[in-house]
Amino acid sequence: MMDGLSVSANARLTYPYALPPVPGVPAQVVAGVQWLRLPLPVSLGTINVWLLADGAGTTLVDTGIYDEQTEALWRTLLDGALRDTPLTRIIATHLHPDHVGMAGWLSRHSACRLWMTRLEYLHCRLQAGDSNRPAPEESLAFYQRAGWDTQALERYRKRFGGFGRMLSSLPDSYRRIQNGEQLDIGGYGWEVVVGAGHSPEHACLFDPQRKLLISGDQVLPRISSNVSVHPTEPDADPMSEWLDSLAMLRRRVPDDVLVLPSHNKPFLGLHTRIEQLQVDTYSALTRLRQGLEQPRRVVDLFALLFNAPVRNDASSRLTLAPGEALACLNYLLRRGDISVSLDGHGVAWYQRA
Ligand SMILES: [Zn+2]
Repeated sequence: MMDGLSVSANARLTYPYALPPVPGVPAQVVAGVQWLRLPLPVSLGTINVWLLADGAGTTLVDTGIYDEQTEALWRTLLDGALRDTPLTRIIATHLHPDHVGMAGWLSRHSACRLWMTRLEYLHCRLQAGDSNRPAPEESLAFYQRAGWDTQALERYRKRFGGFGRMLSSLPDSYRRIQNGEQLDIGGYGWEVVVGAGHSPEHACLFDPQRKLLISGDQVLPRISSNVSVHPTEPDADPMSEWLDSLAMLRRRVPDDVLVLPSHNKPFLGLHTRIEQLQVDTYSALTRLRQGLEQPRRVVDLFALLFNAPVRNDASSRLTLAPGEALACLNYLLRRGDISVSLDGHGVAWYQRA
């Protein structure tokens, strides 16, 4: 994720909890739902995970990243706050390591199963499998096409396979969850609402009775979720999936829910936030269309597309920013608004049609 296309003011969102809980210490949001913040080693700061009362035990939604600090916090929690209400099930919203990183470790320590959508589970295992491989030629050609120089390509080559290092190996079997399915958690029905664009089959959980939406990274209050094209599927159009998912969420989930997002604080104003995200995305696409009067490469487009400068860390510069720029470009290509041609060095140049 990155603070990319989104600039809208958040004046119309309401945050009922002024002070977030201390990382590692669960705090009640409503009866039977606890908010746990876990630290992250990247600029996002923390991730929110959710502890749902489930009979004599606890269902955990998302897990935090797999590192020493998070593992130590979980050891303390399992022996302390969760000693009398042990984990009985882990649900992961999607495959990113801040969400599912500790799932394998926790499922083995608590002898409970991982519940996840099929594409998220399979993609996660696939990406984890890259850990001990060299960077494939297809990926290097993909970033060369985007305009990276040899130095950047070399850095990418060195960093390749980092995904698996933020992840404790997933359990070898899982319980599939599906769009529209009702999960009974502690006597409350949670509907699985699947979106796409940020990840392939992202699960949100909606409890209509208590008016709660666990939104994962599908709707965040202050930043826009990264929507990226990846080297494995260079012609993908995740921006269309993202926009379709926002419209679907607005139809399926009413405005008066308390949104429990993965980053920042719980908020009221779901439909307002969805509209802000839609407006920001369409305005970025318009800027891009207008900015392509002259042919430009992917790496020439960051200042035009992103309202904040791209962070100067390797993952933002190397993969997140070009991935998101390509998501916008592929959206326009599919619609015939722009065209692309390759030069003699294998670099793609985009121009308004
Ligand atoms: Zn994510």
